Amino acid sequence: METNEPKDDDSEIDSEDEWQLYASAGYASTEMLSEEENEESIESEEAWFDGDDFDFQGSTLNWDAPPCPAPLGIAHVIKIGVCDHCLGRISGSSTGIGGSDAGSIVRSEAFERDENLQSKITQDYCPLCENLFEDVENIVSRVFETLSETQFSTMQFGIHLPKDLIQEEDRIRTKYGAPGSYPLKGALVEGIHRRIREINQEVEFVKERPDVMILVDGLTLRVDVDVRPIFLYGRYRKLSRGIPQTRWPCRACRGRAEGCDSCGESGLQYPDSVQDLIGEPIREALGAEDTSFHGMGREDIDVRCLGSGRPFVLEIKRPRQRSFPLEDLVEMVNENGNEKVEVGNFEWCTRKKVNEVKQSRSEKTYTIRFEVEELAEIENPEEAIMSLSGKVIDQETPKRVSHRRAAKTRRRKVSSVDRIEIDGSQVELTLRCEAGTYVKELVHSDEGRTNPSVQSVLGAACEVIWLDVEEIHDD
Ligand SMILES: [Zn+2]
Ligand SMILES: [Zn+2]
Repeated sequence: METNEPKDDDSEIDSEDEWQLYASAGYASTEMLSEEENEESIESEEAWFDGDDFDFQGSTLNWDAPPCPAPLGIAHVIKIGVCDHCLGRISGSSTGIGGSDAGSIVRSEAFERDENLQSKITQDYCPLCENLFEDVENIVSRVFETLSETQFSTMQFGIHLPKDLIQEEDRIRTKYGAPGSYPLKGALVEGIHRRIREINQEVEFVKERPDVMILVDGLTLRVDVDVRPIFLYGRYRKLSRGIPQTRWPCRACRGRAEGCDSCGESGLQYPDSVQDLIGEPIREALGAEDTSFHGMGREDIDVRCLGSGRPFVLEIKRPRQRSFPLEDLVEMVNENGNEKVEVGNFEWCTRKKVNEVKQSRSEKTYTIRFEVEELAEIENPEEAIMSLSGKVIDQETPKRVSHRRAAKTRRRKVSSVDRIEIDGSQVELTLRCEAGTYVKELVHSDEGRTNPSVQSVLGAACEVIWLDVEEIHDD
């Protein structure tokens, strides 16, 4: 009896959280200073003079430049080469105009005040953004190129900027910029949003659960587009034995893409899995890259799952399409399931549902059939078995799972024994147990590791023939 199905890998959820943190970093800094902080920085204005900008080349003496919005401060930042985008955000301009327009107005006003200002500009490379704003167009077109075949309606941006650029920008902005000026990162993200809006009015920018997450590297201008997964909730019935719940890589080749002789080049130990019988038609329909299967527990390969079925969440990775009529998906799955696996209906859900499903501890009803040694010799076997109804049993970690489960003794309750049928030398038993009960062991006792057991109350060796999950009582 094969039972060492691989465990699901939870590390994906962790990396998702990391991503979220990273990407959200761009947002945290877009917040304007609070009024309090604003006042504080006005109070500390006098401290702007520290003399360390004294230029020995003699071209400019910065120490007398006050911060913006003072005209001298504006003249100073223009002299050091600040671009219109940055001028707009640090000059204290209250035009309410976004992008480079506010900066260009501030600049022409400054030129009107001082005709010679233009000739005093020392560089054409913006020290605040290293001309990054000029790349916005380029970044945005790369994003849309990557997403040309992907359906999405919400988007989240993250920008990673070199630390020294952020520090230098912060130094100049706090010294010469108007109090409460918008930091570079936030301004860049906003510039990108503005450009995207010009191309696509429908996109909504969100701070959590976006359809697509975009991470821009400010140094290399590399654009990473992460199409976020979508999630379907459903319940499956497994009507056939010999099917693992999740895809199970070939033991011989460890699931190499090209496979090997022993797995017929499939890379799979079993050609079918509940995951693929359900997931493949959906993956194809939505143009997705892959699926992950998150079941509310799992039954062994040789165990059927009947009744209203086992709750699960199918995670659909990098889908091109994010919507589809659910009845059509159900129909496609049931056709593909070919009476081995079937589903009743689907609901769209979020990642939160994965944890809900994984953490659920539901009682289950099982039917188990087993052979009893010299059953005919046993006096009143029904009564003996019925004595387990309502009993709390101790189960040491079964031998068959000891390689992947910590060795410990679990206390589980047999809620009820509902049906006992004796058929020659065999018994068929329907019983309801607490979540996490090892039912096969409850019958054959696992060499005494489960106590009491059907074997111990009958005083005769029991050998399991088959097991069905009749119902998962998850409500
Ligand atoms: Zn700039
Ligand atoms: Zn193989």
